[in-house]
Amino acid sequence: MRKQIIAANWKMNGTLDQAKKLLEAFANENASLTVDENKIAVFAVPAPYLLLAKDILKGSPYLEVAAQNCYSKKSGAFTGEISVEMLQSIGVKYVLIGHSERREYFNETNAFLAEKVNISLEYGIAPIFCCGEPLDIREANTQNDYVASQIAESLFQLSKIEITKLIIAYEPIWAIGTGKTASSAQAQEMHASIRATLATKYGNDVARKISILYGGSVKASNAAEIFAQPDVDGGLVGGASLNAEEFINIINA
Ligand code: PEP
Repeated sequence: MRKQIIAANWKMNGTLDQAKKLLEAFANENASLTVDENKIAVFAVPAPYLLLAKDILKGSPYLEVAAQNCYSKKSGAFTGEISVEMLQSIGVKYVLIGHSERREYFNETNAFLAEKVNISLEYGIAPIFCCGEPLDIREANTQNDYVASQIAESLFQLSKIEITKLIIAYEPIWAIGTGKTASSAQAQEMHASIRATLATKYGNDVARKISILYGGSVKASNAAEIFAQPDVDGGLVGGASLNAEEFINIINA
């Protein structure tokens, strides 16, 4: 059975005080959340709050913490970067890799992301690998090939065992933070295409085991319909994850 995962991406938002209040709201609601070992919620908080998040969520077994980024090298003279060794040493088990904002504003390429994926897995940290097309690609109707190339160039160096440790998040760039959501049919079509891409390289049994999340303006009001699609295994949520009540409703959807 594939894991169902809701991941919150707080991006570069919130003070320490705000982060604390938000995390406490989830920890306090833990008993009423529909989470279990196969349905988890992951909080990708800003790096300065990772330890705080670990601490506040430590009594909530299915609420996990993720980093929003990591570097491709183990350690060294890379001022300002965060290594997977550091993340491992504080008990972080997930990391976002290849978010479209990292690709766009920090020029992260598929080849560079492949290095980050490799080192994360080497340190036992599960990448939540983000992919997705910009609007012009969607308008040209070449989105399936575009996303298949992102996956092939960043992930196809992995073995069958390695790829099953990874989570994929499909996030059409035109739907991130825009209020425009892909329709549930568009999400399902792309998720099925991603699974088919994985199956051509790793076989159906492996492809069936990989959780594929949808991201792009997910809200409590549209979550249930999108998550009901057979190849959609949860969501990566930006803006709506900063509101405790809204995000609790998304988790429960
Ligand atoms: C995201 O940042 O990954 C995201 C999906 O943002 P939003 O939900 O705000 O569109």
